[in-house]
Amino acid sequence: MTSATLQSSTTSVKTPKAYQALIERVRDAHLLGATGGILSWDQETMMPAGGVELRSQQLAILARLQHQMSTDPKVGEFISQCEADRAFMASDSVESANIVELRRDFDQATKLPERLISEFAEVSSKAQHEWATARKASDFKMFLPWLEKLVALNREKAACLGIPSGGEPWDALADTYEPGCTAASVTKVFTPLRARLVKLLGDLMGGSRRPSNRFNELALPIEAQAKFVRMVVESIGFDFQRGRLDSSTHPFCGGSHCNDVRMTTRYSETCLNDALGSSMHEAGHGMYEQGLPSRAIGTPAGTAVSLGIHESQSRLWENQVGRGLPFWKWCTPKLENFFGKSSDGFSLDELYGAANIVEPGFIRVDADEATYNMHVMVRFEIERLLIAGSLAPKDLPGEWNRRYKEYLGLTVPDDRRGCLQDVHWSMGAFGYFPTYTLGTLYSAQFFDAAKKAMPGLEDGFAKGDFVPLREWLNREVHSHGRRFLPEELCKRVTGSPLSSEHYLNYLEGKLRPLYNC
Ligand code: ZN
Repeated sequence: MTSATLQSSTTSVKTPKAYQALIERVRDAHLLGATGGILSWDQETMMPAGGVELRSQQLAILARLQHQMSTDPKVGEFISQCEADRAFMASDSVESANIVELRRDFDQATKLPERLISEFAEVSSKAQHEWATARKASDFKMFLPWLEKLVALNREKAACLGIPSGGEPWDALADTYEPGCTAASVTKVFTPLRARLVKLLGDLMGGSRRPSNRFNELALPIEAQAKFVRMVVESIGFDFQRGRLDSSTHPFCGGSHCNDVRMTTRYSETCLNDALGSSMHEAGHGMYEQGLPSRAIGTPAGTAVSLGIHESQSRLWENQVGRGLPFWKWCTPKLENFFGKSSDGFSLDELYGAANIVEPGFIRVDADEATYNMHVMVRFEIERLLIAGSLAPKDLPGEWNRRYKEYLGLTVPDDRRGCLQDVHWSMGAFGYFPTYTLGTLYSAQFFDAAKKAMPGLEDGFAKGDFVPLREWLNREVHSHGRRFLPEELCKRVTGSPLSSEHYLNYLEGKLRPLYNC
């Protein structure tokens, strides 16, 4: 491809000589680092407890080697040589888009001094351990010195990365997870979202009807649940020839590359919807990975755009599909094959209702679709203040609890169920949380575009035909890799920039009838 002539939208342009050498280096670094994906998966699913100590050292060595390889000055030189070829860079080709993204990666990696990287790794590794202990004891004061260190390190990291003009330090951190994301752009989307969600939640809680929760309390054998969810994820299009589904305490989707995707789910004795929701969610991530072009493995063109776009794929299958009436029309008659008489006596309406129960709670990861984003907003607003230096870490619990009262009407009973519940900050990950909500909003906007492009799409779901949706996502989203920035991709796929309207209309259209409000 590289020594040949490129297909460009306007003209035919040759790739610079340095391109091939650059891609070889970048690909090697990526493949080496991606080996860690298999080791991490193994750690969560198969590894005996005795392996922990050396496994973390193995992972650290891989990360260090990958960092060294990708920050090698030779990589920078090759990028500059490609950039110097103006005709090539203007060619609107996959190759020139790769150079733009490789420049971004290289600059980001080399802007951080070696000393900061190792201090960050050491502090966050210890802080995670201290956080787990503090959470168990529900003792914020125990975690406070670590939080102070992590906030200081993140402020330093933001300064090294460089604050965009007119922006704030939080932007520099968020950009590493969601390219182009700023606190101002998030606020613009979150503010109208919050106002309508608060109103919707109030209406739902005061509604004259409530779906029955009986199905979510039904005990069903885990073995049968495992067979059932495997059938579902296979039906929606996860390719078991190029991936696995196992179980772990916290479901995740990892692995090494598009032809070896490792995802996990979790089972609860009494709630099939728990395993079903997590499996469909992770399968959405998994199908994104499987849909990336395998010829581009290790290059930006073979890599997912951002955390937000990744999350849009998981949420779309979990919520727009998996909590929808057409899906349950297909699913309901199948339950008997897996669970025999136990699932008798549940009507379609009851099963659909049970998948859509709304109940404000303290814990983000257990939240329903209507309340989930408020959990994210609280975290976004707080981390923005922490990174700006306008909220002292010692004042975190007070700020947290005040917002939970205001947004969800809940009095947080202790820090374990409050500001100590998430692992993210203890890992040093600030600027990460909004990607969950951005993904949720993208999912609704993408789904509206898919329905517009394929009338009758949901009628197919009721018959178990999920192929058109998966193929559409593959074509419109997955196959581009990182060729477009998230906001640009959204405009290409849906015709307009990200807006909370699609999500709110979807949510209100579904929940108001269920709660009769
Ligand atoms: Zn996810």
